[in-house]
Amino acid sequence: MENNKNYKQDTLCIQAGYTPGNGEPRQMPIVQSTTFKYDTGEDMGKLFDLETSGYFYTRLQNPTNDFVAAKIAALEGGTAGMLTSSGQAATFLSVFNVAGAGDHVVSSAAIYGGTYNLFAVTMKRMGIEFTFVDPDCSAEELDAAFRPNTKAVFGETIANPALTILDIEKFAKAAHAHGVPLIVDNTFATPINCRPFEWGADIVTHSTTKYLDGHGAAVGGCIVDSGKFDWAKYPEKFPGLCTPDESYHGVTYTERFGLEGAYITKATAQLMRDFGCIQSPQNAFLTNLGIESLSVRMKRHCENGQAVAEFLSAHPGVTWVKYCGLPGDKHYALGQKYLPNGSCGVVSFGVKGGRKAAEEFMKNLKLASIETHVADARTCCLHPASTTHRQMNDAELKAAGVSPDLVRFSCGLESAEDLIEDIAQALASIK
Ligand SMILES: *Cc1c(COP(=O)(O)O)cnc(C)c1O
Repeated sequence: MENNKNYKQDTLCIQAGYTPGNGEPRQMPIVQSTTFKYDTGEDMGKLFDLETSGYFYTRLQNPTNDFVAAKIAALEGGTAGMLTSSGQAATFLSVFNVAGAGDHVVSSAAIYGGTYNLFAVTMKRMGIEFTFVDPDCSAEELDAAFRPNTKAVFGETIANPALTILDIEKFAKAAHAHGVPLIVDNTFATPINCRPFEWGADIVTHSTTKYLDGHGAAVGGCIVDSGKFDWAKYPEKFPGLCTPDESYHGVTYTERFGLEGAYITKATAQLMRDFGCIQSPQNAFLTNLGIESLSVRMKRHCENGQAVAEFLSAHPGVTWVKYCGLPGDKHYALGQKYLPNGSCGVVSFGVKGGRKAAEEFMKNLKLASIETHVADARTCCLHPASTTHRQMNDAELKAAGVSPDLVRFSCGLESAEDLIEDIAQALASIK
């Protein structure tokens, strides 16, 4: 593949990242090696000093992982990417790369339960404060959430499980007015349905565990940099990127690697080195197999999501349906703007009869299975209030857009007709 050509997403899913040379394996090899051999200590020393690029230890970098990170970066239209062991690790490193003890971050309140816990509990314990804002808040309310020590803004393109749509332009504008980057978790939309960088986001994160893998086979995460945020314009805000890193022989990331490379190089050389949350090359290989069919699969996930959402919204046993593809949905307009080709296969809805009825409905399903997982080839469903979001009180649940009767239904790649028949019988059997 020629790297300087503007290939379509369908082509990038297949061809980006790994390009074999003459006589090399056509499928991306799994470099199952912890370490790499050098002729002289001097050669290796240059790598340690980041003077030349190359590999020395898989905890920092591995060729297989780098091929896959490059593919995801190409799909997102970014300049650099890094794989992590999980989506949680990607979220943590994406924020920790620019914020530390004594800093503050503004986050949408409608986020994944694990992310909420990471921010509100664990990172708070590390000295980073978070202010959670309603994603539908006014520009003034959003503006008021910033403090002098704010270092980043965070949100999810399509929130899991609330399915609210982030007004990326509104959040990017506010972030940039305060001289900080917007980090967007693009897990549910995938770069097939939305590329947040085109709307002003600066950093994108993924749980590749979801649609990118798509087959429930490998936990993983990814961070991609747009290469557009000018860290050097705010050296007092981002000393980690703009002043010498003593742990790397005084390298200044913005000077040495420029806008397009500073953020990911720091995340790799410093944070991955110290936290060690690398993705295994085996998992990167599986993730890559998934991405090869991503654009084909996303179409079907969205078709099934739309069909199921339409069926549910006409059913008397269902009190409400949340899916931005429904014309009456609160986020229909934002969906049309940011996700014109479809959002995802996940539909949230309320079962008439509340929490108990929701649990009974799920038990009655024959095709869809109860799983914490989501965004998979196999249809699965979950009751967040009693599982993933159980650490939240009612007020926090409400702020996150999760009601006690909410069922998260993740449409897989099966026949929509079969899925609807399964839902119909499960609703009909509620006592
Ligand atoms: C699942 C998920 C995560 C966490 O990813 P893991 O791979 O499970 O660690 C983060 N964000 C979103 C939107 C998710 O759905």
